[in-house]
Amino acid sequence: MTEEKTAARLRQEELFLKKESGYDRTDEACVSAMDAYCDGYKKFLDNARTEREAVKAAISLAEEKGFVPFKRGMSLKPGDRIYVSNRGKALMLAVIGTRHLDEGVNIGAAHIDSPRLDLKPYPLFEEGGFSLLKTHYYGGVRKYQWLSTPLELRGTIIRRDGTSVEVALGSEPGDPLLVIPDLLPHLAGAQSEKPLKKAVDPEALNLFLGSRPYPDAEAGERLKLAALDLLNQKYGITEEDFLSAELCAVPAHPACDVGLDRSMIGAYGQDDRVCGYASLQGLFDAKAPGKTAVCVLADKEEIGSMGVSGMQSQAFDTFIADLCDCLGAHLRTCFEHSFCLSADVNACYDPNYADVYDKRNTCFINQGVTLCKYTGSRGKSGASDASAEVMGYIRSVLNRADVLWNVSELGKIEAGGGGTVALHMANRNIDTVDAGVPVLGMHSPFEVTGKLDCYMMYLAMKAVYEA
Ligand code: MN
Ligand code: MN
Repeated sequence: MTEEKTAARLRQEELFLKKESGYDRTDEACVSAMDAYCDGYKKFLDNARTEREAVKAAISLAEEKGFVPFKRGMSLKPGDRIYVSNRGKALMLAVIGTRHLDEGVNIGAAHIDSPRLDLKPYPLFEEGGFSLLKTHYYGGVRKYQWLSTPLELRGTIIRRDGTSVEVALGSEPGDPLLVIPDLLPHLAGAQSEKPLKKAVDPEALNLFLGSRPYPDAEAGERLKLAALDLLNQKYGITEEDFLSAELCAVPAHPACDVGLDRSMIGAYGQDDRVCGYASLQGLFDAKAPGKTAVCVLADKEEIGSMGVSGMQSQAFDTFIADLCDCLGAHLRTCFEHSFCLSADVNACYDPNYADVYDKRNTCFINQGVTLCKYTGSRGKSGASDASAEVMGYIRSVLNRADVLWNVSELGKIEAGGGGTVALHMANRNIDTVDAGVPVLGMHSPFEVTGKLDCYMMYLAMKAVYEA
């Protein structure tokens, strides 16, 4: 028996926003495509613990999809798939469209660096029966979260003779791991009285590297010597080689399903590789675009997008200018007509910390991609603040492609705040808006996302490139 709808009920259906779970608005086919997509995403995460590893993994996926290295001055035609690696730490890819570059390009910009513990230039010392490595944290790290959790050592060392060696301790099954043990509760009386942000001394974030001394009772610093001896055997390095190295400790846990229903993914580095992977796969699968589609996987977002591999770098302008040169277009005209989706994560509503969110303007899990009109803090400070027109544009693109989306702010006003690469794109005279996947436990060693949101991010990026 069908229930008669009241006039008010019908009017509600007409006027109200729909906010039910995305699972009630998708079908079986969508959910199985989502599962397949998320399996690929988890593999990517396991191969991409640092920005350098993410660039390598992305290039290998791109080459399988027909992308070739771009060379300045090469002849380009619609359908061509090219990429430029910016020093192995950031990546720019493009699929050449049928329309002139002066009509603008569609850009997806995500970042592939994540918070972690970098090694200091002089990291190695011994004390109390251990060899240890000093660290300097990178990005917004809550220090207590990095204690008593297994860590891997990743990075690149340039040796005295100029050759480089990759370090990926923890990448092979059976590899040893490193750790920074937390203080035992029995002796944490004084520490427990301190405010959380003061409780862990950043200078005490030293990695435990070893405890077996070099066999010679006469020599000094035998623990340091034993560690260097092993490092020398494994990587061919001496102590001075630390001075030309980028090494970092990252969480060791592989990506996995979370929840009895397997509806979530838990992993390190989902901010922002979840959007990086979506930007990449969306580009691979976009139907022959009208406007040229550009994907940027940037470095250094977590520390302000500075530097040669960050989104503020001229490397991006140079790449687009080079494309303009090849295709007889002008960079300024191209930027003026371009659109950028700054693809970065947002804070998922967490019922355990309800007070930091404005429930009416937050993103909930399984509601799809969350658009963020403005980021920043204390009165939108530092935000590029997308215009009504830009919001209207992205809304129509996502609606046409049946992508689930919503709009959110990052928590309550004055609760905190954050930024993305959006302002750096907008500063180039490119219409830009933020959109991304809601994340629980952002910047922690084990971030959690909803699979449906990850998949919707991919559909959103594909729609942006195809628009
Ligand atoms: Mn981010
Ligand atoms: Mn971040």
